Amino acid sequence: MEGLEQPRKRQRKALDGSTRSNEGVNKPYPSSEPDSDSDSELPQYLQPLQDHKTSTASDNFYLDTIDRTVLDFDFSKECSVSLSKTNVYACLVCGKYFQGRSVTSPAFNHAINQHHHVYLNLKTEGFYILPDNYKLTDPETLRKLDDIIAVLNPTYKLEEIDTIPQQALDLKRIPYDVGYVGLNNVSSSSDYANVVIQLMCHIDPIRRFYMALNYSDDGHSYSPLNAEFGLLMRKLWSNKLYKPHVSPHELLKLISVKQQQSPKGVLVWLLNHLHMGLVKAIDTNKKQKKSSIISKSVQGSIKITRIAVESKDINGKTQFITKDSGTVHSKTKFWLLTVKPPTSPLFSLGLKVPEVSLETLLEKYNGVCQTHVNETEVHQYKLTGHLPPYMIIHIDRNLEGGGDISPTVVKYPRVLDMSPYGDSRANYALVANIVFKINPETKTRSWMIHLQKTSTEWVTIQDLQVRKCEPELMFLDTSYLQLWKRIDVTVNNNK
Ligand SMILES: [Zn+2]
Repeated sequence: MEGLEQPRKRQRKALDGSTRSNEGVNKPYPSSEPDSDSDSELPQYLQPLQDHKTSTASDNFYLDTIDRTVLDFDFSKECSVSLSKTNVYACLVCGKYFQGRSVTSPAFNHAINQHHHVYLNLKTEGFYILPDNYKLTDPETLRKLDDIIAVLNPTYKLEEIDTIPQQALDLKRIPYDVGYVGLNNVSSSSDYANVVIQLMCHIDPIRRFYMALNYSDDGHSYSPLNAEFGLLMRKLWSNKLYKPHVSPHELLKLISVKQQQSPKGVLVWLLNHLHMGLVKAIDTNKKQKKSSIISKSVQGSIKITRIAVESKDINGKTQFITKDSGTVHSKTKFWLLTVKPPTSPLFSLGLKVPEVSLETLLEKYNGVCQTHVNETEVHQYKLTGHLPPYMIIHIDRNLEGGGDISPTVVKYPRVLDMSPYGDSRANYALVANIVFKINPETKTRSWMIHLQKTSTEWVTIQDLQVRKCEPELMFLDTSYLQLWKRIDVTVNNNK
């Protein structure tokens, strides 16, 4: 360890007045402990005490000191003293995280100083008694701790995924709706990302895939983003939560949200990166696959006709004339369809809020309607091929543009017929709707999501708040991202 720069240095603490001398010991914490529950790579003087005991009847005494109300495994798993992320244990008495089990480790010192004795290795999920330093191995004892593992890292057998109960009890025995729980607002500014996470967690084939990801252990190496998203998904759908909410803290650290202060930016980033991570993970040996559960669930194809135009001044009005040359056809994939409601200047005069139907806005995609993209080009769009099981529609209210935000109410049908915009018949029903409200004083936006729970029941989730929602009044809210589920074909739920 000599010569290595360590984050912190500290005197080895006296061990409860024992005869062990600590004089002359001024060694830093090992910063590179092996990522396991073994300290075997440590120098001899840092090795754990060797007086291993086996589980005894006194285990029950220790188990009684566990305080489940302070346990929270949603945050960064790093030692509260050394800030190291390797070999970290949770003290199950006070909930704090400490590194190592060796005699100079923060966990060991904590056990001595605070008389807190039960620890959980956050990586290997092994339970230990410190400072006696033995692992709990008695099956009967471990069974009593199953609920703690279910909070740290919930896993599901395939058959469980389809039979998750709709309601469960939290630690205070208060019922909550499984899968419809709040998300913590991290740093008071993650509500725009929280609604996207909720939306993604309620796309059924994606939910089933990620809930099975941990259990299947199929040998693929998934990206940190996919692993973290999967863990959050499994927690959000857990019926064994201690509190009826989950924190997306660790996932948000992986999402590049710096410049993306709107849900659309976060959603597209998340779809792209989850998809790319899955494609890479699955195709290490085989021929490159292009699809993932993400693309199979929400990605569609679109035909774009680019037409060159020139503007002419005719009778004082600018008109666009199609040039003879320069019509180009191309096909591309899309994650979401963007429609743009008008920004009405009348609204600012206090007149009635304008309304427009979603079908009118979607005419952009009928293959005939022309969209001006710049002075010299117009586009025609038409959906092509099989339409995806889920369709995401982005109602562009100019949030990113910095100009006036369109307040237009977008009315939408109960069943959305997409056949005018594609090659074939396809009916969709709304299953999620991300909306925002603007605080008239601070001008800040707050985000929430309406989610369909059953055929007749909807809930609104805004960060930690989960409340019932009246579907008949939902269209009055300022819709921004909508998730539509195809209802004319059976959505394939298999991986
Ligand atoms: Zn403690």
